[in-house]
Amino acid sequence: MKQSPQARMGLAESFQKRRRIAAWFALPWIAVGLTGFLFAAFLGEEHTAREVVFLAAFAITVIGALVGVRLYRCPACDKVPSEDGILLNPKTCPWCGVRLK
Ligand SMILES: [Zn+2]
Repeated sequence: MKQSPQARMGLAESFQKRRRIAAWFALPWIAVGLTGFLFAAFLGEEHTAREVVFLAAFAITVIGALVGVRLYRCPACDKVPSEDGILLNPKTCPWCGVRLK
């Protein structure tokens, strides 16, 4: 796929915008989820609320990750930039090779 330098610049820009929006939406969930995990650990083995807090924290973290992944996509091929795991700020898309930075 041939593209003008201007079109490529636009894709990189829109990817960076998506990345910021994804972080903005996903990070609060993940932060709350991780706080929940810490809280569950703090409650200790014998506490009955521990499992509930742990599950809630897990669910919230998963929601955060799903929201992030939903938004965090390559603007050219609509895939999540990933290799072994999700690439947080790749120079190019590993799937279609479009410049993202
Ligand atoms: Zn791509």
